[in-house]
Amino acid sequence: MFICDCHCDTLTELYKKGTSLYANDQHFDIQRQIALGGGLQFCAIFVPTREFRYYGGLRYTLQLLDKYLQEVKKLHVDGIDVLQVLTKEDAADVLNHKAATLLAIEEGGAIDGSLEALRCLYALGVRAMTLTWSNRNDIADGVNEEGSGGGLTVFGRQVVAEMNKLGMLVDVSHIAPAGFWDVIETSSKPIIATHSNAKALCPHPRNLDDKQILAINENDGLIGVTFAGQFLEHDYNDACIESIYRHIDYMLNIMGNDDHIGFGSDFDGISHPPYNLHGVQDYSAVYEYLSKKYSASTVEKITHKNVLNLLQKVL
Ligand SMILES: [Zn+2]
Repeated sequence: MFICDCHCDTLTELYKKGTSLYANDQHFDIQRQIALGGGLQFCAIFVPTREFRYYGGLRYTLQLLDKYLQEVKKLHVDGIDVLQVLTKEDAADVLNHKAATLLAIEEGGAIDGSLEALRCLYALGVRAMTLTWSNRNDIADGVNEEGSGGGLTVFGRQVVAEMNKLGMLVDVSHIAPAGFWDVIETSSKPIIATHSNAKALCPHPRNLDDKQILAINENDGLIGVTFAGQFLEHDYNDACIESIYRHIDYMLNIMGNDDHIGFGSDFDGISHPPYNLHGVQDYSAVYEYLSKKYSASTVEKITHKNVLNLLQKVL
């Protein structure tokens, strides 16, 4: 079993609590990931938009980025085989390592309205960015602003073009529908919704409707099914591993193939995880459940191959 997971907020917890990426008592750490059989974890720098609505996010981003780099350095010094994914070649090589991480940003306010800052963050290792959180920033409106009908701003279009050019994954989780469709139209490369589920099963504004799911399929992109209880079930108390399966199965059926679905747990960022899933260690139960439902080839694709393929196309 090798698990690629497109979203977690573990870095925020590590930064605030001074804990370690290798071993901690949060939802995710490398030690449990390796014990499980290995995996690639996207580690997002989440920039809180109430504090940094338009500007001021860059300094905070650098503080979390420093924490990530320090933790990666410690893993190397301790001789733990964890690859930091930076290139297509790295993406092709992930399975030859015990574990891997990919540095991401959640909330485009991180770049403080500057394409220069975006390029510098790329140089520091960032390989994916969620354009907005749920509020408005200078790139686009998030889902909380859906009523405005606002899509990508002129600057937002420049950001998508620059991310395409650099080889950075454009993440549409959290963006309002108008912005979603602008990204579909604008992006020259496959996109990703790192942590979103199916709206038809759970009508939360953060989830994707059928047309959006089909558009990501057409775009050759990927949807990371998320474990947040509120995005899995009407009543988050009912969320369980079977709910995760139901969202996966619904999207597979809509798409008519198994090439564009992965995971985006949102570990360490979710207040209500499924009642029978408490952290990265419980991926074994998810794997077991999916193995009873799908062929080995489909399980392989959902658990890691689809994400690694996408990275090889975009980075
Ligand atoms: Zn999120």
